[in-house]
Amino acid sequence: MRLSAYPIVNLKEVPADAEVVSHKLMLRAGLIRRLSAGLYSWMPIGLRVLRKVEAIVREEMNRAGALEILMPTIQPAELWQESGRWEEYGPELLRITDRHERAYVYGPTHEEVVTDIARRELRSYRQLPVNFYQIQLKFRDEIRPRFGVMRSREFIMKDAYSFHADEASLDEGYRRMHDAYQRIFTRCGLSFRAVHADSGSIGGTGSQEFHVLAASGEDAIVFSDGDDYAANLELAPALPPPGGRPAASAPLTEVATPKAHTIADLVTQLGVPASQCVKTLIVDGAAGDLVALVIRGDHELNAIKAQKLPGVANPLKMASPDRIRTELGAEVGSIGPVGLACRLVVDHAAAALADFVSGANKPGFHVTGCNWGRDLPEPVTADLRNVVEGDPSPTGNGVLGIARGIEVGHIFKLGRKYSAAMKAEVADENSQPLTVYMGCYGIGITRVVAAAIEQNHDEAGIIWPDPIAPFKVLLVPMNWLKSERVREVAERLYRELDAAGLEPLLDDRDARPGVKFADGELYGIPHRIVIGERGLDAGVLEYRHRRATDNEEAPLEGLTEFLRERIRQSSTGPA
Ligand code: ATP
Ligand code: MG
Repeated sequence: MRLSAYPIVNLKEVPADAEVVSHKLMLRAGLIRRLSAGLYSWMPIGLRVLRKVEAIVREEMNRAGALEILMPTIQPAELWQESGRWEEYGPELLRITDRHERAYVYGPTHEEVVTDIARRELRSYRQLPVNFYQIQLKFRDEIRPRFGVMRSREFIMKDAYSFHADEASLDEGYRRMHDAYQRIFTRCGLSFRAVHADSGSIGGTGSQEFHVLAASGEDAIVFSDGDDYAANLELAPALPPPGGRPAASAPLTEVATPKAHTIADLVTQLGVPASQCVKTLIVDGAAGDLVALVIRGDHELNAIKAQKLPGVANPLKMASPDRIRTELGAEVGSIGPVGLACRLVVDHAAAALADFVSGANKPGFHVTGCNWGRDLPEPVTADLRNVVEGDPSPTGNGVLGIARGIEVGHIFKLGRKYSAAMKAEVADENSQPLTVYMGCYGIGITRVVAAAIEQNHDEAGIIWPDPIAPFKVLLVPMNWLKSERVREVAERLYRELDAAGLEPLLDDRDARPGVKFADGELYGIPHRIVIGERGLDAGVLEYRHRRATDNEEAPLEGLTEFLRERIRQSSTGPA
């Protein structure tokens, strides 16, 4: 492409609602334009990136044996009533009515439609397993569309659905998709992790999310340095500390702690570490009672774990200060387990403390030297907290680290949820009806583009990984208008690189070099060649990789080979 023929102007200012860097850069560089809340148009350069991601996904899905189809975006309500999701799905589901007053939805996902295809087309177990996929628009009426195409309302998903005669075949199909996803995100040049998403149980393979690692990610993910264990923070189990509890050595003592309402206040007033204090959180019980959850002062409550406890209200609800006052006679800020008239559940780490500090259930006082089994009964324990960096991995190998991630893909064993509800059956070996097993596998194609930018950018702009860059090579001729020689060489190189498939972008605009360099950096084109009179005298050009800080010489003759080699080097893995 020639920039002189490209009408989209870079934005100098981005709207205030663009909070994250990918959204800002995509708007500045003119990759996308907003139509209305959560709805974006893909402009020429942006679309080139999107198509590259699509192409990689399509190739790997085909290689894994999946069959591409295309299903309508608009789906009849009857199918959603059959699956039960017409009621279940809630306001993210866009419901529409046609001129005959028939109800439809704009598909947020396609399990119903593909299950309908399967029950019509698949008759015998001999036709299984099969995997149908598509690359199609979805609409989800997100409550807070934000971050541009990262969480939009309309977006493009690659969604695949597999059908199997038994669970072993489903496991195999799931594993294939897992491997295909590994290849897809590796080929996109991204640094990513597959994390357990359904349960923290080790080796649980019912559902995994693929996360692109980026500081701005919405999700906290936990991974081990000892093996490939990775899980959502919400689900990673915290093991009981090894070694048990030390013996009690201090007497239970009430101390005045005026105005100490938080653990941080206690730490300064009493000079004890937060890890020697406990926090007592009162939540609603399932039977209209109250339950006290006790965790260490330096730990955070994990709501997902807490609400799964028997007898605790799900979803988790903190008890109101009024209820705590009337039913427990305590004030939030000075609650402690000693003498508290309600059921206690104590996190493993808090239960392993001796001589700890807690609220005294009396405003302005705390107790020190608290000990389980002496001042309090032996505790009922559970895993109630988020893991922290340095905790042992639940697999027993290595310690845990925490990173932030952007969910770009999700693979899921559905089992018979949809096939049973919608009667997707085939004849088994004995001609008896068999309800098929299903898996579903999604990739947010549009989100991948934004996530790639979140992971790869600097002050000046985007740094595309080679495999998804809109153009591989930027040609910057100096003195375009004045130097006929530069123009001739630039035109020749442009044609040569184009013919060699190196996807050149020629900046043939009548603009200052500074403007051309800045725009090239904003667009994130990985390889830049500058063509100047002086270099041509010596038969050389100037080369620089988007990540490099210095120029190198590149040969005028043999430039294609030179660039091929550079592209090969920078494509061999994520930076
Ligand atoms: P999230 O938790 O981010 O809302 P989800 O769990 O609802 O995602 P899935 O139903 O698993 O997402 O959809 C598959 C993929 O589609 C996700 O992994 C993500 O990459 C993408 N995706 C989901 N919602 C959006 C959205 N609003 N905008 C862009 N991509 C999305
Ligand atoms: Mg969602």
